[in-house]
Amino acid sequence: ASREFKAEDSVFDLGRGVKVGGGNLMLIAGPCAIEGEEILLEIGKAVRAAGANVLRGGAFKPRTSPYSFQGMGEEGLKILRRVGDELKMPVVTEVMDPRQVELVAKYTDIFQIGARNMQNFNLLAEVGKVKQPVLLKRGMSASVEDLLMSAEYILASGNPRVILCERGIRSFDKSTRNLLDLAIIPNAKGLTHLPIIADPSHATGRPDLIPAMSYASIAAGADGVHIEVHSCPEKAMSDGPQALLPPQYAEVVKKMHQLAEVM
Ligand code: PEP
Ligand code: MN
Repeated sequence: ASREFKAEDSVFDLGRGVKVGGGNLMLIAGPCAIEGEEILLEIGKAVRAAGANVLRGGAFKPRTSPYSFQGMGEEGLKILRRVGDELKMPVVTEVMDPRQVELVAKYTDIFQIGARNMQNFNLLAEVGKVKQPVLLKRGMSASVEDLLMSAEYILASGNPRVILCERGIRSFDKSTRNLLDLAIIPNAKGLTHLPIIADPSHATGRPDLIPAMSYASIAAGADGVHIEVHSCPEKAMSDGPQALLPPQYAEVVKKMHQLAEVM
C-alpha cells in the first residue's frame, strides 16, 4: 500500500466504465439497507439522476442490537444485482463473514468491509482472493497505520484494488454520531497510493451536517464520497435519521463537482 512501493496514485476500474483515483470521483449513494426491489429501484433512479456512479445497499447489516433488522440476506443481494443491472450502475454491499464471501461475490461489483470488521484479518484475506475491488472502512478507533495494515492484508492475498474510507472515529461529543477525521485524507495520501473516500453519513449521523462535510472532504483531497440516501427516511429500516433526500443529494453532488474543478 506504501508510496515507497508505488509512487503514483492508483486508479481502479469499478465496473460499467466507472473509475476511482487520479481525479475520478467515486460517488456512492443509496439506502443503508436493501428493503425491497421497488424502493431500491426508486432510490437508485433518483441517485443516478443526481450523479451517483455506484449504488449501495446492505443485505447483511452489522447492527448493534441483535434484535434490530439484520438485512435481507441473499434475497437482498439478488435485488441489488437486478437494480444495478437495470440502472447500469456498479453496486457495493457489505460482507461480514468469511463464509459469506463466495455468496456475495456472485452478486456484487464491489465488496464493502465495514468499520467493525476492519481488523477481521480472516475476512480481509478472503476478500483478497476475489476479483472485485474492496471498499475498506476505517475502524472506529483505528489509526492510519492500522487502516493501511488492513489494506495490506487484502493486497497481500492478491487483490490490488482497495479503496480506503474514512467514516468517522469515536469521540466524546455525542452531538454527532462519530467524528469525521478529515486530516486522515491528506495524511493517508502521503503514505499510500490507494484512493481514499469519505463517508460523512456515518461520520456525522446528521443530514444537516452532511453537505458541509462532503465539500470539506473534496477540499481535503478525497477521491469520492459515500452518502446514504432514502426517499422516505422515516420508513427506512436502518439509519433513516441520517439519510439525505434525493434532491438534497443532487445539490451536494453538483457542488462537489464544482469544488473538484478548482481543487
Ligand atoms: C454502512 O455502510 O451501512 C455501515 C454499517 O458502515 P460502517 O461500517 O462504517 O458503520
Ligand atoms: Mn448505514
